[in-house]
Amino acid sequence: MGEDYRRMWTDLGLDLGAHDALVGALGKAYQDIYLAQKDRPLGMGYFDFVMSEVHGLRIRELLDEKKAGRRIIGSYCVFVPEEIVLAANATLVGLCSGADFAMEEVERYLPRNTCALIKSSFGFKLGKVCPYFESADMIVVENTCDGKKKAYETLNDLVSNLYVMDLPQVKSENGRELLKTEYNRFRKAVEELTGVAVTAESLKQAIRTVNAKRAAIHRLSSLRKADPAPISGLDALLANQVFFYDNPARFTVSVEKICDELEGRIKEEKGAFLAGTPRILVSGCPQAVPNWKLPFIVETSGAVIVGEESCVGERGTRNLTDESGETVEQMMDAIIDRYFQVDCAIFTPNPDRLEHIREMAAEYRADGVIHYGLQFCQPYLMEAIPVEKALEGQDIPCMRVETDYSMEDVGQLKTRIEAFIEQLR
Ligand code: SF4
Ligand code: SF4
Repeated sequence: MGEDYRRMWTDLGLDLGAHDALVGALGKAYQDIYLAQKDRPLGMGYFDFVMSEVHGLRIRELLDEKKAGRRIIGSYCVFVPEEIVLAANATLVGLCSGADFAMEEVERYLPRNTCALIKSSFGFKLGKVCPYFESADMIVVENTCDGKKKAYETLNDLVSNLYVMDLPQVKSENGRELLKTEYNRFRKAVEELTGVAVTAESLKQAIRTVNAKRAAIHRLSSLRKADPAPISGLDALLANQVFFYDNPARFTVSVEKICDELEGRIKEEKGAFLAGTPRILVSGCPQAVPNWKLPFIVETSGAVIVGEESCVGERGTRNLTDESGETVEQMMDAIIDRYFQVDCAIFTPNPDRLEHIREMAAEYRADGVIHYGLQFCQPYLMEAIPVEKALEGQDIPCMRVETDYSMEDVGQLKTRIEAFIEQLR
């Protein structure tokens, strides 16, 4: 099997030496962070397997799909509608952007003061270590923050299959019209790529498939309201991360199984942490695989994370798409309505997000909120200040964290986070 995988990675054009280094580091981090946890739900064994095969079996499956005539589409943002991709007989995968790689080379293309997420997306491409990127027939990027917009101009010179989606920045009628135009343009582009027209039937089925995986994640989130929390924030984050990679139907079944197990745990009052452990809501920038730094620090400092107001979390999954439409146009409208509710910080103004953070803090019975901002991410770092003020005005303690993917500040962050948790007790 090992040789078979190596041939597959070579055929994809990966740099085997660099890839070995990345996979080794990922495996070590997983062992130290995930496998070191106590009292994990048995169902997490599925996600351990997925992570051990993230560059192996899953890539083999995608390549088999390609052989059978399906197309693979890679993306970096929750605004790329999976419903349209599935309805046109393609598969959507999230692309890696949660670790520093090939930074020296990256900084030949991007300024040093670019957020870690954007730098990471370049590093995985330039370092030739991402089999998802290399398997994709189309890479969809989006005009969201300024950093992404300008970085993608550069990325366009490095790859031939980039598709740029324009996105509104204001929640107005014009903004919705722009999203509609762009989603219809995207549908045509995917249809051209696959040679398969989206029909009312295929779109309805696709909406059902994506809604089912969202509903499974909603169920998992809802179980985290219990005290003691039946699952760690680290494990729940992993499920939210795998949401972007896995086969949708298999993912849904696996999450539902964990939920059955967690319901049993709740009945027995068994938790991943003791009852009364301080509960934290994390809000802010997305945490892509393998960015587990913040939850690891929080959950080894005496608190449990009970929710993520994040694109890898509830901002990305919270709304379902209305399934009741009968024509492609009606269902496209439902898709536009669903995605237009995503309250990313690139929108101005963005009052819905603050409301959502408050709602989540109450629903998940959070004792405090940690606002997670990546260094140099203007939209989220700027929004963090009014968010903190508004929460503190309502007696919800909030702490702003600004960090990157390096491990240099772990000690300093841990000291600050321990002090914050102490204040919540
Ligand atoms: S934070 Fe904004 S730009 Fe980033 S993935 Fe989410 S919606 Fe997309
Ligand atoms: S983390 Fe911030 S700066 Fe980085 S890509 Fe997302 S919105 Fe842009």
